[in-house]
Amino acid sequence: MNFVEAIISKRDEGTLTREQIDAFVAGAADGSLPPEQLAAMLMAICVRGMDDEETRRLTDAMLHSGETWNLAADVPGVVDKHSTGGVGDTVSLVVAPLLAAVGRPVAMMAGRGLGHSQGTLDKLEAIPGFLCHRSRSDTVNMIHRCGAAIVAQSKRIAPADRVLYGLRDITGTVPSLPLIVASIMSKKLALGAAAIVLDVKWGRGAFRHTVEEAAELAAALRGVARGMDLPCEALITDMNQPLGPFLGTACEVRAALAVLEGSGSGPLRDVSVTLARVAMELGGTDPDEAEDSLIAALRDGAARTAWDRIVEAHGGDPDPDLLAKPVSQCVVPADRSGWLVGVEAATLGWIAVDLGAGRRTRDEAIDHGAGLEVHVRIADRVESGQPLATVLVGTRPVDLDAVTARVRNAFEIADEPVDPPQLILGTIEDV
Ligand code: URA
Repeated sequence: MNFVEAIISKRDEGTLTREQIDAFVAGAADGSLPPEQLAAMLMAICVRGMDDEETRRLTDAMLHSGETWNLAADVPGVVDKHSTGGVGDTVSLVVAPLLAAVGRPVAMMAGRGLGHSQGTLDKLEAIPGFLCHRSRSDTVNMIHRCGAAIVAQSKRIAPADRVLYGLRDITGTVPSLPLIVASIMSKKLALGAAAIVLDVKWGRGAFRHTVEEAAELAAALRGVARGMDLPCEALITDMNQPLGPFLGTACEVRAALAVLEGSGSGPLRDVSVTLARVAMELGGTDPDEAEDSLIAALRDGAARTAWDRIVEAHGGDPDPDLLAKPVSQCVVPADRSGWLVGVEAATLGWIAVDLGAGRRTRDEAIDHGAGLEVHVRIADRVESGQPLATVLVGTRPVDLDAVTARVRNAFEIADEPVDPPQLILGTIEDV
């Protein structure tokens, strides 16, 4: 088959055949198509879209591009959680130990940063020794030992996604519904958990900018899972500002620890507890009972203990003092008084990437000390001179004046107050 014809067909709004989709996925997985052609096809799909049948075929081809693990066969009730991507989204690092602490086994497939959003895998690799590259039997053993396993996207599982994910990251082709659905669901189905809970973000820091777009994505993701008789729920949550106080890798690990130690409060904790509760409900636990046990696990230290055990089982050292620290810090103050009415959340994500918390090219190393801390939330009163954010400078060369100006401009301060955005909108049926 001449793959150029497939690219031209999609460029001109055609429908890809099964053979063309299979060739695309196989070419990504085994390297038989050059990155230029893969990237051209990604852009054509991003711009022209795919119908439901094409999306289903793409997901299926990506799912079968590697091993399928069916973890639920060895770990009954094992649950998987995935986010569609945002900033300050440290939820996976909280949910895995939290569910493990209450006896609900977890398997997650973690990816690297995508676009402006920092990746769970990059965050975990900020922990000295932490290794996510695991075989199926290692993964099952780890879940039996410590209640959770976090596996890296690898050459074994959905290898086509690994390649396409990396290319999308550097070609501006992330925010495409069929590409997101196929990327997420191929990995989820290949891992084979017994249930999946999805955090579908909407807003300026998400890949879907409106509630309607997020609901459309949530319906597509949930539809694929339920179409395969896999219990799945998707919550639509706010990503119009960073969820947690930190954007980065090591600093987000610290933010997760604060929640797990019971000292962290606010949106990161609320979204994490809600998603964990929904995961338990999918397994048949009564919602109130689930919520009580999760809150108890945060209060009595069980969630923090589970974190240490999970980190150790993955070869890491849970001592937070070993996490990388910034080389220097620079506070960005407000230049006027007023009310915080909006945040360019994706811009903050890109700034964190530029500082070192993400990759601007495929092979760039992450600087685990770099990132941002955000001090204000939408609807807060802000006084002139009050810190809006702190730039955590790592080892990458930085034009601090330019960064400071970019950070300041990402915060919109006005004379009239606004209401805080609703954090958890609920399921598709609720919006
Ligand atoms: N997470 C993924 O794994 N893939 C996407 O495309 C977006 C978020």
